[in-house]
Amino acid sequence: MLLADNRGVVYKGNGKVEVENIPYPDLVLHEGPGVPKSNEGRKCEHGVIIKNIATNICGSDQHMVRGRTTAPSGMVLGHEITGEVIEVGRDVEFIKKGDIVSVPFNVACGRCKMCRRQDTHICLHVNPERPGGAYGYVDMGGWVGGQSEYVMVPYADFQLLKFPDKDLAMDKMLDLAMLTDIFPTGYHGAVSAGVTTGSTVYVAGAGPVGLAAAHSAQLLGAAVVIVGDLNAARLEQARSFGCETINLQEHDDVGEQIEQILGIPEVDCAVDAVGFEAYGHGTDYEGSPATVLNTMMDVVEAGGKFGIPGLYVTEDPGAKDENAKQGSLQVRFGLGWSKAHAFVTGQTPAMKYQRQLMMAVLNGRANIAKAVNATVVSLDEAPQGYADFDSGVAKKFIIDPHGMLR
Ligand code: NAD
Ligand code: ZN
Ligand code: ZN
Repeated sequence: MLLADNRGVVYKGNGKVEVENIPYPDLVLHEGPGVPKSNEGRKCEHGVIIKNIATNICGSDQHMVRGRTTAPSGMVLGHEITGEVIEVGRDVEFIKKGDIVSVPFNVACGRCKMCRRQDTHICLHVNPERPGGAYGYVDMGGWVGGQSEYVMVPYADFQLLKFPDKDLAMDKMLDLAMLTDIFPTGYHGAVSAGVTTGSTVYVAGAGPVGLAAAHSAQLLGAAVVIVGDLNAARLEQARSFGCETINLQEHDDVGEQIEQILGIPEVDCAVDAVGFEAYGHGTDYEGSPATVLNTMMDVVEAGGKFGIPGLYVTEDPGAKDENAKQGSLQVRFGLGWSKAHAFVTGQTPAMKYQRQLMMAVLNGRANIAKAVNATVVSLDEAPQGYADFDSGVAKKFIIDPHGMLR
């Protein structure tokens, strides 16, 4: 292949992404936008080259594209990668050419203290700047993103989940494409919140992650799943698979709405699938980053747990006040403390849940593509996909770079 024989979605600064020619990957992490100095030239003979079959746009990408992070212009985006292995490095033993695989969005070595305890989201070896790596993401080690035709994935034997049957994998690709991030993330949110048979759950946010958390809560046996958002179309999507909903633009008192549904103003537990770009409730739409956390402390019963997959940042150049620019929020921690709440934060260790969720998909137990309204677009349509997603449509966009899904 020629060096330029690859195309990908590139972040071009505030509000802008473009599809451009990018280098064809090899088994080295080269210097480039967002690559820390000490990661430049890193050899990856333990890696593979993947021909991307499905590569999704995520709400996490939108934080960067909206200029709410310190992401550098020129970075190739994309951390939700599913594809066919077309080249294997010298040190890869078990993954073979032709395998169809899901790539967990975290980059993880499989050797460090954190990986050994399944905390692959805070791997100590893949990012010299802080624990945890990802593809095409700010501050995550500079691994080249996969919203492209081809991408390199390191530590292949450890990281890749191989689908057992290729034909079945292609048939179920819209569901399986969600295993790289949002299905494990929604599931992790629900598990961390302690959802079990008979639970009552409040899910903040009806974006793809919120919908995945709601579907996961149902899989875990929740009695009632209540989804809150300000976006009517997304709430409609949540109702399409059996959730109760609260329109937070019309009702700012979440406890009161929960009481109408459950008879009491409290739930057992909650999932924050919104993060730091939260809006205030009601018609006072202003960005208000602590809204979801404070609401959850209000409506979760004493002793309840929160899963917090919604992303919070250390630096938010687009924040309205000085404190929020540093990631300092006005969280009413005393309320949570007095109710003995427990919080689980951070990126999801996707690998931990991938196999079980794959089995649920392959055996018809989980219908994640339908829950999130998976919608396929071409690589050239990706910038439009970003714009549509940003406008709040009730869709999860899957980029189909080789036209294999339509
Ligand atoms: P999204 O932007 O599509 O969805 C967020 C939704 O939250 C929107 O529908 C918005 O209207 C709604 N919202 C805003 N303020 C709200 C409020 N106060 N209460 C309830 N809803 C409110 O994003 P997504 O793709 O669904 O992702 C959700 C979050 O999860 C993002 O922050 C993303 O970065 C994060 N995420 C984290 C991980 C992880 O590993 N922890 C993985 C994937 C995504
Ligand atoms: Zn994602
Ligand atoms: Zn590691």
